[in-house]
Amino acid sequence: MKIVIVGGVAAGMSAAARARRLAEDAQIVVLERGPHVSFAACGLPYHLSGEIADADDLLLHTPASLQSALGLDVRTHSEAVAIDRAARTVRVAGPQGEYDEPYDALLLAPGAVAVAPPLPGLDLPAVRTLRTVADAVALRERVDAGARRAVVLGAGFIGLEAVEALRHRGVDVDLVERAPQVLPPLDPELGALVAGELADHGVRVRTGVSATGVEEAPDGGMVVVLDDGSRLPADLVVLSVGVRPDSALAAAAGLDVDARGAIVVDAAQRTSDPHVWAAGDATAVVHAVTGARGPVPLAGPANRAGRTAADSMLGAEVASPPVLGTAVVRVMGLTAAVTGANAAMLADVEHHTLHLHGGHHAGFYPGAQAVHLVVHVGTDGRLLGAQAVGREGVDKRIDVIATAVRAGLRATDLADLELAYAPPYGAAKDPVNMAGFVAQNVLDGTLALWHARDLDAVRASALVLDVRGDAEWASGHLPEALHVPHTQLRDRLDEVVAAAAGRPVRVHCASGVRSYLAHRVLVAAGLDSASLSGGMQTLRAVH
Ligand code: FAD
Repeated sequence: MKIVIVGGVAAGMSAAARARRLAEDAQIVVLERGPHVSFAACGLPYHLSGEIADADDLLLHTPASLQSALGLDVRTHSEAVAIDRAARTVRVAGPQGEYDEPYDALLLAPGAVAVAPPLPGLDLPAVRTLRTVADAVALRERVDAGARRAVVLGAGFIGLEAVEALRHRGVDVDLVERAPQVLPPLDPELGALVAGELADHGVRVRTGVSATGVEEAPDGGMVVVLDDGSRLPADLVVLSVGVRPDSALAAAAGLDVDARGAIVVDAAQRTSDPHVWAAGDATAVVHAVTGARGPVPLAGPANRAGRTAADSMLGAEVASPPVLGTAVVRVMGLTAAVTGANAAMLADVEHHTLHLHGGHHAGFYPGAQAVHLVVHVGTDGRLLGAQAVGREGVDKRIDVIATAVRAGLRATDLADLELAYAPPYGAAKDPVNMAGFVAQNVLDGTLALWHARDLDAVRASALVLDVRGDAEWASGHLPEALHVPHTQLRDRLDEVVAAAAGRPVRVHCASGVRSYLAHRVLVAAGLDSASLSGGMQTLRAVH
């Protein structure tokens, strides 16, 4: 059995190593057009920041180490330039010229390429993407050489990592994002928290604008021109406006490729040719919640798909599960993480959205930090997705919820999860448990919610009731709201009924806890009531 693998990083190298572990007698050739195999792309921003001091630490293996450990024939500087599917050969352009490499099974793991919009000036030497070791080294050298002003184009995961790394090095940063918010995979109420953190660290965040070009400046630097007329001086520009599947080789060979350019594979990673498999960023995967097919460029799914492909190439009946898109990023002192579907993906799906701001550990133990958690729940109780932003404990909550979604748990099952607890680590009622309690209440009608996005409609048609304490009210409130602290509500119900004058009552507090208590009092009094999901903390983030 001869296996040829195109692409020697996450999916390709996972497949090669797995294939060797399963088949000692297989001949396994890995073709990598770059100088490195098995390098830690995810670590590149941390070399730029200086946290990973030596770029060599990003190189997890060399062709020699892979030969000695796994008996792999790894060829760097070797690009697969064509596939002859009938002859089952790959045309390789290597250091010694071109040749044809025969295969029994071929795995395409070519990854993704950075999207480069057709803008003037992107070919200037100080405009770089952050995709390879050479990119990270080049950016770092420019910073070491005195670059002090950077413009980062694109506020996705990699763009934010680049911003953080550059700020870490003391570089002045403008961040430009075409979407109306940073980190578009987050719902807006959480994206606002990330934008605030960036601003607090001196990053000038410019959303809703695009670059129209990069010009050379008389001082030897550059100017990034935006479509709102702004001109941003820069010594370096990081281009991180997204990636697209690197599927040109597959498409030229006549393999099925979808409208977004992703290689079409089945659950066993098989392409439209029974002798050719594909895995990783170049492929379309099935989203676990929405069922949509498309690329999800993340390292975990790529590694696992490579492993599945190896199993399948060697004859096992295997299937990659649908992908949740679980991801996490550090942005200065904050962590933001997502799993499953976000609000935009659920635009056409009826669902509930829960907002919670619980502490990452017990409130009575010093140092509790809020975990701002958003959970989307189907009207049938299905757990659809979650996101969180905070200073501590964010990754843990999202990983638990990702596991719950994968296991097919309902939102109400989160209430029953028995999670590790001692005061320095969590709470007897962890934020994940609390999400389960709120889901139970919402699904069984104990709690009706209204949302910050509905504020205008609520103002026009309902009494807004603020049940926070006097000091909170004094620190800022909605001008039309009636203020009755929740501890006084039972005694002052007549006031509320009079002010409502037959209208519904839309109650809020700071986070949604006290307004829930008030809601139950109002419901018992026969009023049409709903509690603001996430309270003023969420409202302030979006208004
Ligand atoms: P790649 O890892 O991109 O490997 C593909 C390889 O194929 C490349 O080396 C390429 O040179 C080679 N190749 C392509 N075409 C050919 C050809 N014709 N012949 C020979 N070789 C070819 N994901 C996360 O989940 N978490 C993170 O924190 C994270 N951080 C990231 C940070 C950065 C800066 C970057 C760039 C990516 C990050 N990712 C992260 C994404 C993750 O690295 C990718 O999802 C993952 O590497 C994809 O694996 P892959 O094998 O499909 O492709």
